[in-house]
Amino acid sequence: MERTILVYEKDRDVVKFLKSFFEERKHYSVHYVKKGKHTLGKEILVKKPDALIVSSPDGLAELQPSEIPCPIIAIISKDETKGIHSAIKSDVECYLIGPFYKEELDQKLKTLIDKSSLIESLYRDRKDLEALLELTSLASSTLNPKEVLYLIVKKISEILKVTRCSMISINAEDQRYAQVLSTFEDPSITNIRLDLEKYPEIRNALSSRKPVIIKDAQKDPLMKEVKEVITPLGIRSILVIPIFFREEIIGTMLLRTSRANHAFTKREIRLCVALANASSHALYNAFLFQKLYRENAKLEKLAITDYLTGIYNIRYFYSRLEEEFSRAERYQMPLSCIMLDIDHFKKINDSYGHRIGDFILREFAQIVKRYTRKSDLLARYGGEEFILLLPQTSLKGALIEARRLQKVVREIRFRQLREGQGITVSFGISCFPDKGVKNSDDLINFADNALYKAKEKGRDLIISHASL
Ligand code: GH3
Ligand code: MG
Ligand code: MG
Repeated sequence: MERTILVYEKDRDVVKFLKSFFEERKHYSVHYVKKGKHTLGKEILVKKPDALIVSSPDGLAELQPSEIPCPIIAIISKDETKGIHSAIKSDVECYLIGPFYKEELDQKLKTLIDKSSLIESLYRDRKDLEALLELTSLASSTLNPKEVLYLIVKKISEILKVTRCSMISINAEDQRYAQVLSTFEDPSITNIRLDLEKYPEIRNALSSRKPVIIKDAQKDPLMKEVKEVITPLGIRSILVIPIFFREEIIGTMLLRTSRANHAFTKREIRLCVALANASSHALYNAFLFQKLYRENAKLEKLAITDYLTGIYNIRYFYSRLEEEFSRAERYQMPLSCIMLDIDHFKKINDSYGHRIGDFILREFAQIVKRYTRKSDLLARYGGEEFILLLPQTSLKGALIEARRLQKVVREIRFRQLREGQGITVSFGISCFPDKGVKNSDDLINFADNALYKAKEKGRDLIISHASL
């Protein structure tokens, strides 16, 4: 490995000696800094030398050795006493008193550079361990697992300077799609579906059960099939690490960089594997969390749904009725109720059987639901009877709505019924505020009375309580 050396020395003889020394040692790239400490400061920033050779006392006096980020070798060529004094005072790593042998300089350079790279790697290891420790305790914290995963990807992206770092959840039953649970670019991103067809590197990690390391995505044969997609994104190195929970792959960590000349180093890969292992519990918890959440949502929906028709059940209707009635009273807004009952439904059952009767009920309910406004609430009241609550709707509005539905129902063609046979419905309407409607029970009872009247008067009719 080539090492970079900066020389800050004006003594001609010493410079001549150094030039001949480095001429024979091609593994050093040497830069001679002309006078001026500002130039030296700049050169140190740009060249990032592995060592600095400087004259003592002259050159050393111009520097702040404690601020130089590399080992320093002081060369004492003239005033020996002052030179040694200055070198000791400045606390430089070592000094050489001229004349000295080339072997001496050789040995000093080697020792100093080895020592400093060892310190550097220990320092990096310590940082990695600190990160690992921090993430391990984070992963086992009681925070919401999604938050944990976000903090993990954020931390990794800080340490490794990647352009993308995501935690991806893998579902053993779904070979085609995965889910991005967390990505550091955007904390709000959760549950994005990922089409694995477009991610050969993830598919490869899943089948090999090993990390996939791609040095240059532009050249790697694995990425050939998606080259057109990734080229404009500037993706260069990719690292995919499978995450296991009890031997099963439950996810992957996906890292990408756009660094052209720098693939992931061994150290980075080792760190990522350790971090992926540490994230395993958080990922598993997130998976459980999501499953529980979905099942809860399903249960909640089930609890308010009528099993046969798929619309709301009467229990849910009553809970919403109370709310809507109080709101209407408080804000002085109208509230209407329409009760619907299918005419002669018994005959359908008798001629086609109960099973077909069930089909008709379901289809009827779904069609009515499709034709009611979003703000209205349709529920099955029981048997072949339905109820519709219309917030902020006066009697006039409810009548228009009932007529619209009456027309829709008359036009339904049921596959299960004989050609030309359809169904009709009787409607009973009540409204708040209206004579005698004092509470939500009145609203229901009056709609029921009106419905009874519609049946009595011959069916397929719309009757409002107000007209009785
Ligand atoms: P109308 O309302 O016009 O007076 O006559 P109808 O025949 O519709 O009313 P009735 O109250 O006499 O009978 C209701 C019928 O609805 C009888 C019952 O079997 C049927 N029914 C109620 N619930 C269901 C159900 O869930 N599935 C099926 N298939 N039929 C049902
Ligand atoms: Mg009926
Ligand atoms: Mg009935």
